[in-house]
Amino acid sequence: MDPTEPTETLDPADWPAMRALAHRAVDDAFDWLSTVRERPVWQPTPEAVVGQFHRPMPRAPEGAAAAYQDFLDWVLPYPMGNVHPRFWAWYMGNGTPFAAIGDFLAAIVNPNMGGGNHVANHVEGQVVDWCKEIVGLPADAGGLLVSGGSVANLVALTVARNRATDCDVRAAGVRGLKAPLAFYASSEVHSCIQKALELLGLGSGALRKVPVDADYRIEPDALERMIRADRALGLIPACVIGTAGTINTGAVDDLEALARICRRERLWFHVDGAIGAVAALAPAQRQLLAGLEAADSVALDLHKWLHVPFEAGCALVRDRSAHRAAFALTPEYLEHTARGLASGPLWFSEFGPQLSRGFRALKVWLSFKEHGLDKFGRLIEQNIAQARELARLVREEPRLELMAPVVLNIVCFRFRPEGVAEAALNALNEELLIRLHESGIAAPSYTTLHGRYCLRAAIANHRTEPGDLRLMLDAVLDIGAALTAGSG
Ligand SMILES: *Cc1c(COP(=O)(O)O)cnc(C)c1O
Repeated sequence: MDPTEPTETLDPADWPAMRALAHRAVDDAFDWLSTVRERPVWQPTPEAVVGQFHRPMPRAPEGAAAAYQDFLDWVLPYPMGNVHPRFWAWYMGNGTPFAAIGDFLAAIVNPNMGGGNHVANHVEGQVVDWCKEIVGLPADAGGLLVSGGSVANLVALTVARNRATDCDVRAAGVRGLKAPLAFYASSEVHSCIQKALELLGLGSGALRKVPVDADYRIEPDALERMIRADRALGLIPACVIGTAGTINTGAVDDLEALARICRRERLWFHVDGAIGAVAALAPAQRQLLAGLEAADSVALDLHKWLHVPFEAGCALVRDRSAHRAAFALTPEYLEHTARGLASGPLWFSEFGPQLSRGFRALKVWLSFKEHGLDKFGRLIEQNIAQARELARLVREEPRLELMAPVVLNIVCFRFRPEGVAEAALNALNEELLIRLHESGIAAPSYTTLHGRYCLRAAIANHRTEPGDLRLMLDAVLDIGAALTAGSG
């Protein structure tokens, strides 16, 4: 190394210039966010812009200012739309300005949340404890923040798999199991549960889909019959997965009934609460969620109805030692010490698949403190009231049809004008939805219930105002009229 050469670093050569750029970025971001309502919900990214993302790697510096300009030109104008007040597609959250600052600060502090003795771990510990409080699990439960519901479910189901028999699955693999395991969930279960069972080596066949009633809730009697039949076949029933808020219609399984069956049959009781577990923050919804507190494990999402910017979910496992036993693996280079940097009680890498982990806890901690969790409960209630109002407007309008009961914040409906045959309705509504998206007015998504294509509005949106729903319905009726007049 030549001592006369300056050492290279990634820090700015000109700190004041970087600070000015950062201030500009904050101003641009807040201008953009505070005026979101004035822009279309969504618009396609122009081909010329897409073309900007197929360049060879930049070997030479372009500089922060030029890179930032490219962000302004090519990224900021074409958002997915989920920050918008009339975005109700799939199931998402909006994010919040202050939580976004949390993401910035987390990246500045930039700890690795695998373990060690530093205060950021206590921030995550605090947030996980608050999540236990939300769903009613005991304070000594295990838990960690993860990327979202999918990984939260995967983490919990890993523990359920390992605890299902006395086989040491970590050592023997699933070959060591004496018979195939069976996991039960309603036919409305989220696809990530099947993915988790596939990743766990159990195969998608391990997922037994139980029929639902007219309200899309699991039928407890059918569940019991399936468990008995599987036992008779020599399978090992392992786990029942209740859904608190299904992705299609927002249905909440009878969690108390499922908890009872699990106690009697000695099965692991897991709840996929990605959508609805946080509704426990709304006092009026607690009855609906009764039984959640009896779960052996719960998956919840913080980037959906709690509006933490992506990504943030949480896996909770009642039996902390079972949780740790599923993931802890401590080679010498990760040994804990009694004092110093490698000490401390919190090693989240021993509770999930990741070693290096980001400081996603900071944005959650800041956001919960900023607003208080009662406010999130009120916002959840507000969305549920908006969903009921939307359902009422749909019922009142003869050209619209409500397709499923509304219990939480998901409304499924379709355009059904007089004189159009049932067989033509699916294609009509499909085209209608695409045109609605292209109009930029509103963005619901779709699902299919009993073979019937429906528009589906999932109102997990803290920016939605009552007039927004009316605006969407008017657009649906206008587009539908144009399509059926043959002039569309
Ligand atoms: C969204 C969702 C998931 C998956 O969560 P991600 O955060 O997208 O990984 C699981 N279950 C249900 C019911 C969901 O709505």
